[in-house]
Amino acid sequence: MGNEKLSWQDHIRDVPDFPKPGIIFKDITPMLADGAAFSAAVSELAEFIGPDVDAIVGIESRGFIFGAALANKLGLGLVTVRKPGKLPADIHSVEYELEYGVDRLEIHRDALSSGHKVVIVDDLLATGGTASATVELVQKLGAEVVSCLFVIELGFLSGRKALSGTKVCSLLSYN
Ligand code: AMP
Repeated sequence: MGNEKLSWQDHIRDVPDFPKPGIIFKDITPMLADGAAFSAAVSELAEFIGPDVDAIVGIESRGFIFGAALANKLGLGLVTVRKPGKLPADIHSVEYELEYGVDRLEIHRDALSSGHKVVIVDDLLATGGTASATVELVQKLGAEVVSCLFVIELGFLSGRKALSGTKVCSLLSYN
């Protein structure tokens, strides 16, 4: 007793009522802080990336953490999709709906071009609004989305529906 081996999934912490009442926030920071757990999760993500992929697209901000680790492990480049006003050069921008209001994501116009095949990475799929805006940005550049890859999926929010037409993979799903 007491010395059972923990898996990376055991290091995800539920924080109720964050950032607002009724939301159960899936906090990945304990998993990131555990070297073995972080490495195991990134290795599992890597199993979903085929040899045809040219780049990883990471979504700000927790998608950068997993996207960068994954890209580096596979020797691929990382393209960053950022919140408004962060990218310094010429951008494409896509607006998407939040529960209340709208938000925007941006990509550098020269980050990808026609013929590039990418995998989009984020920590968590909820309603799918963030990821589908990212798919739109990648497609504006003429590149192809091979799949969207998440560490965690909140299946009850049906994010896959918002991403219909795109292959979706996740390591851990809550239904
Ligand atoms: P959505 O656009 O609804 O799929 O939301 C996904 C984005 O919001 C991701 O970048 C997540 O990091 C974040 N997110 C949404 N819901 C949660 C949650 N319950 N716990 C942690 N992050 C969340």
